[in-house]
Amino acid sequence: MYVILLGAPGSGKGTQGARLAKRMGVPQVATGDLLRGAVKKRTPLGIKAEAYMTQGLLVPDDIVIGLIEEVLGSRRAANGIIMDGFPRTVAQAKAVDRLLQARGARVETVILFDVEQEELVKRMLGRAGELGRSDDTPEAIRKRLEVYADETAPLVEFYRERGILQEISGIGSVGTVARRVLEAIDA
Ligand code: AMP
Repeated sequence: MYVILLGAPGSGKGTQGARLAKRMGVPQVATGDLLRGAVKKRTPLGIKAEAYMTQGLLVPDDIVIGLIEEVLGSRRAANGIIMDGFPRTVAQAKAVDRLLQARGARVETVILFDVEQEELVKRMLGRAGELGRSDDTPEAIRKRLEVYADETAPLVEFYRERGILQEISGIGSVGTVARRVLEAIDA
């Protein structure tokens, strides 16, 4: 099963993605984690991506689409994945379609996490010390929310038109939201 978790930064995609992946027995793949890994290892891709990430900007599509291609072509993605943090642009969404189609698969469900802006900022600032992310500064957070609205939010319509969008509230305990996620998958 190929599922996309869509939502602003701080909306709970990562937490819920991990639970859902375990439950469904398919891997959770987060481009943010892959990119942070590349930055840490100082690979050429990581070095290129770092400046964008620190500023809260999206890493250019050609870099990310290359990563996605590698992920979707790998054996561990053969039975499906939970996509966390990608696609983030229409170009990336089209790349996912193309790559899955080539494998005789398609995106089955897109779950949109609804959380109001004030709560998003609170969550990200709250975890800043905890996770030690260089992009959880007030400035980068503001930029990331802006980038989400401009570049990623158009995907809501993209998938709604296709009839595979399930919108849920991301407010509540981890368990409560997890139940909504499962209902959305079953719907
Ligand atoms: P995340 O962990 O998903 O919040 O991602 C952290 C940062 O990595 C983002 O602010 C972007 O700079 C970069 N990033 C992660 N996923 C993508 C993507 N699909 N497209 C472009 N940039 C991404």
